Amino acid sequence: MEPHPDEFGQQVSHFQEVLKRAGVKQTHQRLEIFREVMQTVEHPDAETVYRGVRQRIPTISLDTVYRTLMLFTDLGLISSLKTSHERMRFDANMHAHHHFVCTECGMIRDFSSPEFDALAIPDAVRAFGSTVQAHVEFRGLCWHCLEKKQHGT
Ligand SMILES: [Zn+2]
Ligand SMILES: [Zn+2]
Repeated sequence: MEPHPDEFGQQVSHFQEVLKRAGVKQTHQRLEIFREVMQTVEHPDAETVYRGVRQRIPTISLDTVYRTLMLFTDLGLISSLKTSHERMRFDANMHAHHHFVCTECGMIRDFSSPEFDALAIPDAVRAFGSTVQAHVEFRGLCWHCLEKKQHGT
């Protein structure tokens, strides 16, 4: 889901509030890093975020970007996903949603499904603890990778 302009304004005030409450200083760098994750549906890794932010803040380092993303994750502003052998990816969509993951190119896309949001919690899961949210992940090949395979390249 592409966040639309007024949604971004709302996200920024939420961002400012969360930082303030946590006693974390709001800097231009932090806002730009947040903006970079917010404006994409790609679930980028730290390096991709770094490449984007660097165009606006050339002095920023990959390490800073990585540490900032981890800070945002701890603050609950974004979430982090680790899909098998891949690098850590970051997700700014904090609404309940599900993922399609391409196992070939690592493409991750959000989808919403009222049906999956309302999944019945299996007894086996209840035995472990209290569930807050269920997340369904479909893994497979995206159309692009599928086509590449069919053409034998
Ligand atoms: Zn793919
Ligand atoms: Zn997502």
